[in-house]
Amino acid sequence: MGIFEYAPAPESRDLANLKSHYRPFVNGEFVDGSGEPLKTINPATEEVLAEVGTASVSDVDIAVKAARKAYDNVWSKMPGSERAKYLFRIARLIQERSRELAVLESLDNGKPIKESRDSDVPTAAAHFFYHAGWADKLEYAGYGPNPKPLGVAGQVIPWNFPLLMLAWKIAPALATGNTVVLKPAETTPLTALVFAEICQQAELPPGVVNILPGAGDIGAALVGHGDVNKVAFTGSTEVGKAIQRQIAGTAKKLTLELGGKAANVVFDDAPLDQAVEGIVNGIFFNQGHVCCAGSRLLVQESIAGELLEKLRYRVSTLRLGDPLDKNTDIGAINSAEQLAKIKGLVESGDAEGAQRWTSPCPVPERGFFFAPTVFSDVQQSMRIAREEIFGPVLSVLTFRTPDEAVTKANNTPYGLSAGIWTEKGSRILWMANQLRAGVVWANTFNRFDPAAPFGGYQESGFGREGGRTGLEAYLDV
Ligand code: NAP
Ligand code: MG
Repeated sequence: MGIFEYAPAPESRDLANLKSHYRPFVNGEFVDGSGEPLKTINPATEEVLAEVGTASVSDVDIAVKAARKAYDNVWSKMPGSERAKYLFRIARLIQERSRELAVLESLDNGKPIKESRDSDVPTAAAHFFYHAGWADKLEYAGYGPNPKPLGVAGQVIPWNFPLLMLAWKIAPALATGNTVVLKPAETTPLTALVFAEICQQAELPPGVVNILPGAGDIGAALVGHGDVNKVAFTGSTEVGKAIQRQIAGTAKKLTLELGGKAANVVFDDAPLDQAVEGIVNGIFFNQGHVCCAGSRLLVQESIAGELLEKLRYRVSTLRLGDPLDKNTDIGAINSAEQLAKIKGLVESGDAEGAQRWTSPCPVPERGFFFAPTVFSDVQQSMRIAREEIFGPVLSVLTFRTPDEAVTKANNTPYGLSAGIWTEKGSRILWMANQLRAGVVWANTFNRFDPAAPFGGYQESGFGREGGRTGLEAYLDV
């Protein structure tokens, strides 16, 4: 099978500076939350990494009050040029502590170190650099001469990109003059609490950023708090809908970044080897725990056989295992619950008659792992073609004409992203116009840049994050 054998190349876990206890961060201090402490585990080994203090509903109120005070007295009054200095400082501190953050993220989340090191952490720093640049230029952003912040932002994020989703939320909020209370996901609170240390190191005024670990009920209390002006949520469509119902009729401004079931469309004139790399990146990056994952491969019928053969060979060379090994391509599934959800959907694919192929790679006995899997002969009505699996599982469908490709790509309740692989520029532009997706990549996939707005259509949510457009979500415009 493998062309090369690789000796283990583990990154040192000592770099994470792991502590046995972590605590919520409120008003510039680490405090004892009055919630029930949680234990966060390493999903690759199932060992407990640390105990984390959590917030109770009354702590939510304390944090929102701290954020309000910081907003009224300090942050909303500070000139943008001064706010920018804090954002630059935070960006540089993320860079300085990047190895620590990368190892900690891989331990807590299960993602391969090469991804946390080369993607999550540098992109998080880039978001702070980018938004630092906006802080003193908001009057040129196209929202009028003196755009005002909203106030206190309540932000809730998922476990798939813990530090990066935090950066997507906090950087634009601070740049525009808002203060923040953020709840990280229950299974991945650690890098958010190191980020809190970074806020202290940067001497960010107390209360501008508050971090409250806790479960979904704390997210709900934060979102529903009467003194929160802006709600930003990234997570499942189900919880997104609940939040929308919860705050309906209030003056809160809302952005929702939800799930996806993206089509990655390969035409017969595409450079196939390059497309195979893009397909692999599209669905196996971060174990497929990616809202914009290219989880539905639409391939033109005339090349389907050849492409599938190349794809299976390439997938069989992916290395699955220890997330801290620098050679690992696929790490651990973040939780037992998520692994069970993936297994359930894969069983439905078998039961509904799709052809399952699974990489013969060895799978560790301990920890939550799932071997990369490709389903062919998939019909549009099957659950594996309609529901977000959020795991390393690709569903392959075929099409004959560009019109059919568009119809099938758009046959989804979601609309977050899409990919097009073809040599024809005119076809790329034609397709991009027809596809109902917030981001369309051409001859590439999963490219992120803080300057490019990201967000969805339909059940993938609304509002944009990143770029000039993303500022609007945090301005009173
Ligand atoms: P989730 O269950 O919706 O959880 C997301 C966050 O919301 C977590 O912090 C969660 O807390 C919290 N939460 C749960 N119930 C809540 C409630 N009633 N009110 C307020 N907050 C609540 O989603 P997930 O399974 O962690 O994340 C995966 C989903 O996120 C996928 O569907 C994926 O597509 C989506 N996602 C979207 C984007 C995007 O930009 N569009 C990016 C990344 C991920 P707990 O951790 O305690 O459950
Ligand atoms: Mg964990």
